[in-house]
Amino acid sequence: MAKAYFIGQESGQTYPIHENRWKGNQDELLDIKITTSFDPETLKNQPINMWRYQAVFPWENMPPAVSFGEGFTPLIEETFGKHKVWLKLEYLFPSGSYKDRGAALILTQAKALGLSRVIQDSSGNAGCAIAQYAAKADINCQIFVPDSTSPAKLAQIEMTGATLVKVPGSREDTAQAAWQAAQSDYYASHVWNPFFHQGTKTFAYEICEQLNWQAPDTLVLPAGNGTLLIGAYLGFEELVQMGIIPRIPKIIAIQAANCAPLYEAFRLGKEEGIHLQSQKTLAEGIAIALPRRGRQMLQYVRNTNGQFIAVEEPPIQEALIELARKGYYVEPTSAAIIAGMKIYLQTEAQKDEKVLSLLTGHGLKSTEKMLQILKTDLN
Ligand SMILES: *Cc1c(COP(=O)(O)O)cnc(C)c1O
Repeated sequence: MAKAYFIGQESGQTYPIHENRWKGNQDELLDIKITTSFDPETLKNQPINMWRYQAVFPWENMPPAVSFGEGFTPLIEETFGKHKVWLKLEYLFPSGSYKDRGAALILTQAKALGLSRVIQDSSGNAGCAIAQYAAKADINCQIFVPDSTSPAKLAQIEMTGATLVKVPGSREDTAQAAWQAAQSDYYASHVWNPFFHQGTKTFAYEICEQLNWQAPDTLVLPAGNGTLLIGAYLGFEELVQMGIIPRIPKIIAIQAANCAPLYEAFRLGKEEGIHLQSQKTLAEGIAIALPRRGRQMLQYVRNTNGQFIAVEEPPIQEALIELARKGYYVEPTSAAIIAGMKIYLQTEAQKDEKVLSLLTGHGLKSTEKMLQILKTDLN
């Protein structure tokens, strides 16, 4: 099993992994450093879900998993225009988005620590995932949400028995309120808690195994809080370090033009996200005006020679309809990433470049928006 420890992003201070902790002593962000070895040959008898890679999880002795047997989502080929691409169907999780990868690891750790309560904040899907895994773990859970969260996601959270705390104001106001409340509690945050990224890194392992231990040339990923982007990078980096693949795929990170702090920072050569006036977007799941791990995301994208792309609203809606017409019922945020991928395919992709993207969240979460689109766009 793996040897792991926490390390502070600013100070480099380290802490034992078995501590009850989600931030550094100086309130800084933590990463998890891990040394492990991993032999694909040992996977034969492992379950066909994300726990088959538990050798690379940050526990020396694996605690009982809080799990619904999630992961190992389908990877299929699809055609857009004249380009063939790989799509990973990440909306097929018990809570309807890939956030389950991180929630499963956080609640497994919370259970191992013997905690009775966790706190989380979310504009939707991370809250749904944490609430469901907390229910599975039999741990109380408090989810802070902005007033504006979609009714389907609120219902999904509340049905688990989690306590909903609605916060007036912006997404950042919600995050601030949860951060305060979590000071004397366990913050099961997909932004602060680095166990989350140790879960989303299984995205990289699954892709490699599904492609017969090869990596694609290019990944097109969402850039909201970077919970998948950071996890994917860490996973591919480990696979490179272990000599299984030669390099980390190029990362193309997608933001909505109406809320694009990292796209702007990238364009201007800055190291931190730029705080802009943001506007409403169909892609609510990636509309993060102040991504707390923005510096890390910019650095990872640059390390792979990647880039940021910002998509306007009309192409998001077009991609949503195109996907639905191909049989993929996903939420509008997912369509934004595909709209960004189409821009990349049309402007930059080489003819035989192997491009991979994903569908992030289930369409059943967004019925009101779908009805709106049916009323206004298709008649
Ligand atoms: C969380 C989420 C995203 C992107 O968020 P990141 O924090 O950048 O990983 C995209 N789509 C959906 C449906 C989501 O729930």
